[in-house]
Parts: sequence; C-alpha cells; structure tokens
Amino acid sequence: MPVSDPSTDLLVVGGGPAGISAARSAAAAGMNVVLADERPTLGGQIYKQPGPGFTVTDPAAMDGQFRYGRSLIDSLDGSGVDVRLRTSVVAVEGRRVFLVTDGSAARELTARRLVLAPGAHDRPVAFPGWTLPGVITAGGLQTLAKTQRVLPGERTLFAGSGPVALAFPAQLGHYGADIVTALEAGPAPRPGDFLRIARAARGNAVLLRDAARYRAMLLRQRIPLRYGRIVVRAEGDGRVERVVHAAVDADWRVIAGTEETVEVDVLCVGYGFVASLELMRLAGCDFDYQEDLGGHVVRRDEWHRTSVDGVYAAGDGAGVEGSFVAIDEGHIAGLAAAMDAGAMSEKDAAAASAAARRRLARRRALNAATKRLYRVGPGIFELPADDTVICRCEAVRRRDLAPAIASTDDINLVKAYTRAGMGPCQGRICQRQVSALIARHHGRPVEDVALATPRMPVRPVPIGALADPSIESPTLFLSGETTGADDTAPPEVTEP
Ligand SMILES: Cc1cc2nc3c(=O)[nH]c(=O)nc-3n(C[C@H](O)[C@H](O)[C@H](O)COP(=O)(O)OP(=O)(O)OC[C@H]3O[C@@H](n4cnc5c(N)ncnc54)[C@H](O)[C@@H]3O)c2cc1C
Repeated sequence: MPVSDPSTDLLVVGGGPAGISAARSAAAAGMNVVLADERPTLGGQIYKQPGPGFTVTDPAAMDGQFRYGRSLIDSLDGSGVDVRLRTSVVAVEGRRVFLVTDGSAARELTARRLVLAPGAHDRPVAFPGWTLPGVITAGGLQTLAKTQRVLPGERTLFAGSGPVALAFPAQLGHYGADIVTALEAGPAPRPGDFLRIARAARGNAVLLRDAARYRAMLLRQRIPLRYGRIVVRAEGDGRVERVVHAAVDADWRVIAGTEETVEVDVLCVGYGFVASLELMRLAGCDFDYQEDLGGHVVRRDEWHRTSVDGVYAAGDGAGVEGSFVAIDEGHIAGLAAAMDAGAMSEKDAAAASAAARRRLARRRALNAATKRLYRVGPGIFELPADDTVICRCEAVRRRDLAPAIASTDDINLVKAYTRAGMGPCQGRICQRQVSALIARHHGRPVEDVALATPRMPVRPVPIGALADPSIESPTLFLSGETTGADDTAPPEVTEP
C-alpha cells in the first residue's frame, strides 16, 4: 500500500484567496483541515509571494496587493490548519485523494469533505506565431515579475481583454517594463456604461478606485490603451520581432484593412481566464456553460455545494470573478462544510455568511454592469492558419486536426486520432481551441462540444511519484484486478 496519511474532516485544494478563506472558516468552526497547494508559497495567483531565495526586507516598498495577500496568508497562523505546500493533488476518487509532495511518492488521504479552490488559468488563444519565444501569457509574465522580479524583454505589447487589460499593463509599467501599447479587444466605454457602473458602485469603491488608479497609471506612463483591437499574428526569426494587430467588430472578428505592425520583443497575451476544472471533473461534478465566467462552470447551490455529496467549489475555479469574490465564496464553502459536518448549526452558518453574501451580490451587480465591455467574442478563436500549432505539447497543427474534425465532433476521438491534448498540460492550453474548431466545422455552439475525459495526474508530477505498483486505485494505478472496463482498447472508429 502507498503511505497513507490519517484521514481528515476537510481537504481544501488551493492556497489562493478562496482556499485560504475556506480553510480558515472551517477550522474556526472546529474542523480538522488540511490545505494543499502545489506552489512553494500560499497566496494563489493574485497574492503570489516572491519565490524561495527572496527575502522581503521592506514590506512597505512592495505593492498593496503584496501587503493584502501577506495579511490574508498570516491570518492562517494559529488557525490549526495543516498547510502542505509543494503538494499537488493529482487524483480524486470518491473520498480518496492522491497527493504528491516535492515529487515524492503519491500519498493517499481520505477526506470526508473536499473544498476545491484550484483557481483559473489564462484563456489560451492560438494565432500564427503564438509559439515564438517572446510571446507569453499574462499569468506567465505575472509569475516572472512577482516571484522572480524578472521581465522577459525590452519592448512589450500587451493584447487582451477584461479588467486584466487595464490592470496588467499598468502593473507591468510599475515593475519597469516598457509597454509600447495596450490593446483591449472589447469596445471603449460609452456614457451608458459609466452610468451602469455608477449605479453598481455601492460596496465596490475599492475596485472602482483601483480601476481609476490603473487608468491614471497608464496615462502617466504614456501607455496608449486602444480599444476594439486584437493581435492577429506574431512574426520574427527565432523569436518575436513584430506583432500585427487589427480592429475587430463586436464579435471580435478582424475588420479587413485595419492591420498595423509594431516592433517589439515581448508580446503579452491576456484574454481573460478559464476555470481549472480537472479535479471537479474527476470527482464527477455537473457543469453549465458561461463563456464570460470561464467556459464550463461547475454547478453549485447557494452554499457552494457541487452536485457531488461532500464536494464544494469556490473562487475562480468555480467561475472567474476575481479575488474578492473568491475570498467570500471560500468563506461560504468553509462554513457549508462545517455545517454539513455538524460542526455548526444552520442558523450560525447563515449568520456568519450574511455579510459575505451581501458583498457577493454587490460584486455581481458590478460584473453585470461591465458585461457589454468584457463579453468574449468568438472571433478570437478563429485566428489560426493551416500551419499554426494548436497543441503545443504534442506539436499538432491545425491542418493535422482538420481530417479528424471532419470525421467526428467528439473531442475524445479527435484527441485519440491526433494526440492533441495528451501532453503534459493535459489539454489546458489547446482544448478550448480544439473545441472551437469542432464547433465551427460542425456548425454547433461551442458549449455543445463536450469536454475531453480528464485523466490523472491532473497536475504535472514526475512519473516516479506515481509509478508505485502497490497503489491500488481505479483512477490512479491499477494493480491486480482491474475495474472491468478496458480503458486501453483503441476506440472503434473509421480512420479519417
Ligand atoms: C494568470 C492570472 C492573472 C491574474 N491577475 C490578476 C491581477 O493582476 N489583478 C487581479 O485583481 N486579479 C488577477 N487575477 C485574478 C485573481 O488572481 C483571482 O481572482 C484570484 O486569485 C482567485 O483566487 P482563487 O483562490 O480562486 O484561485 P488562485 O488564486 O488561482 O489559487 C488557486 C491555487 O490552487 C492551486 N492549485 C490548483 N490546482 C491544484 C492542485 N491540483 N493541487 C494543488 N494545488 C493546486 C494553485 O497552485 C493556486 O495557488 C489573475 C488570475 C490569473 C489566473
């Protein structure tokens, strides 16, 4: 048998704002809580701390995000939460969860309840030249800047959409990057938008003040912010040297004759985020589709219970709505786990969640007010040329996918034919693009294209951590008896 930890009342996956908040609230109610995160420090995406080897000698010199994140992380001190860093949760099977710490052998943990708060990742967008060195996602660049204090080049073009397209170029400018231009795919705000935003301002002063501050930073740093434009292609000999961008219509489809070229050595791309669903899918949760919340979004009740008994979901992983929403959702999910475990009464949980619910309603009113500005247009998924790489792990080009897609609208079969989505990222980068190609070819809405079947390990870990023949588990490794179904049999399909 693999080394087996004692069981726990609650395992929280994810040490970002949602996971920290969930763990803190459940522990305060008397639950025995384990919090696992694969990163070396807590904080998640937004409150990412400087990496190992860095010491912050003057917190006052860091930005407000760092300080707020630090206080959130410090709030776990004395909470009794068992924090496990560098620990990837690689599979879920009922109440059994498999953890890999520092690449060591997988450990099994039996968790009576699970709060899944795995966050989100950049919405991947493929266009000619997107695999050239020098093209980087907002999340990648943010990680370099926040954890290593490194910028990847001299002259940067930012192309993206949503709040990140305002915040990110301003933050990068603050880190010393030379941002040549920032492109926002959505439309410029009109007086009607400002009116809607003003009506939703109650309870959102901090967010609106931040937005105004970021706009002022762009103006101060003379970074032009151009609306209604997307990147069309990146060009260069061995690395990005130029980027072509163009104006788009309301569906983000390129308007012919509007192309412009700019010389840069970094292209940072940030068209919003998609929720990390892998563990929720392995757990068997139900999903709905809302592109603006990140595509497939786990179905939950008002206590953030998923459709699977004992499994809760919170934060960006349950729909991308930002860090303040993540904190309040985590709090509610932590209370719900405590309430369902009998550690707190329904009345007390309702009272303890009331303020968070009020804040969530106000945040969602603000999100609704900005919907016209930040709606994701389908045109962004129509940029790849025939020879554009779609699955970068397995080097599968659009033309390699075409015959498979012509023969089937089943993404699992397309994956089996072409290997797109079988690499280390397990389709996190290419799956949305492949779904868009299938939807377009078969004339169906993208939400009707089912997701590929998730496979463990859901996070990249050394194979040595899993290659333990003593681990008996239908989803991790089989030993001795199999579960019956022959997963290794090739699909019965006609060759495309
Ligand atoms: C790339 C990116 C950039 C962003 N930039 C900004 C910004 O500039 N300003 C802003 O206001 N908001 C930004 N956001 C949004 C903000 O970061 C999120 O709203 C907020 O962090 C959500 O909190 P969370 O706890 O839900 O998820 P996260 O903060 O993403 O935390 C999730 C945590 O789960 C861990 N995890 C995931 N899966 C596993 C697993 N299987 N095993 C172990 N650990 C796991 C991850 O390591 C991560 O630490 C950004 C989001 C992303 C994805």
